[in-house]
Amino acid sequence: MKTEFALATYEVVAPHVVKIMQNRPEARNAQNNRLTYDLNACFDKAAQDEDVKVVLLGGEGPHFSSGHDLKGFGKVEDPLVGTWQPSREGGVHSRYSFEQEVFLGMCRRWRDFPKPTIAMVQGKCIAGGLMLAWVCDLIIASDDATFVDPVVAMGVCGVEYFNHPYELGIRKAKEFLFTADVWSAEEAHRLGMVNHVVPRAELESFTLSMARRIAEKPAFALKMTKQAVNTALNHMGQQATMDTSLALHHMCHAHNAEMENRAVRREGLPEKFRGPAPAPAAE
Ligand code: ZN
Repeated sequence: MKTEFALATYEVVAPHVVKIMQNRPEARNAQNNRLTYDLNACFDKAAQDEDVKVVLLGGEGPHFSSGHDLKGFGKVEDPLVGTWQPSREGGVHSRYSFEQEVFLGMCRRWRDFPKPTIAMVQGKCIAGGLMLAWVCDLIIASDDATFVDPVVAMGVCGVEYFNHPYELGIRKAKEFLFTADVWSAEEAHRLGMVNHVVPRAELESFTLSMARRIAEKPAFALKMTKQAVNTALNHMGQQATMDTSLALHHMCHAHNAEMENRAVRREGLPEKFRGPAPAPAAE
């Protein structure tokens, strides 16, 4: 049975296995508020159903995710997932509170989802798309998948869910961020960020077959195993690193806002999102 949300779908695809799909292929699954909260509703539905033991997360169309919707997110109209009420004051207060709720808060919530999750990544996985893949316990990529975080070129120190050092190791994380190069699925696999690379046509069948093997295990043992491994990440400083990184990220947003009157550097944006050049500041 399939449940349709505005920009996401929820479907039981095998005994104890649910597939959640981003469903905005015409925009390469660019993530806006609606898509974010629809995904969250799907995760909640899967969490509350005792029959569900494993969740797959994918994206409809040729690309997994083009990242956060650069046309802007707007006001959050859904019930918040945390206590970071986005402020109406403006400035850093509004921006920081919004990203605590919608970016970091949401990702942490999904990272702590109490059942195994598997990302199925095909085509492009850009910036905010990395966050979606990274919150999953396992990542299966098709051989056409590519990964990039171009946020440094936009004048900000990487995406909001700053998991780069834990995914790639320290040196390769720095290279990934400094160069903003596009990395292949094969490279991501070599570095341990991706569990398996499979032909595009086999992405879903391969992932589903793995999900079925996981779903044969006892639910409570799976939960405790996930919590144990995530606790190892906590002891490796993941949570503290992300808190600090988000503060640095917002220092960059604030700098750009001061210098260019927008939170990201105009020149780092793709052409179609740049808009007119700002007028030179008065002396
Ligand atoms: Zn940001």
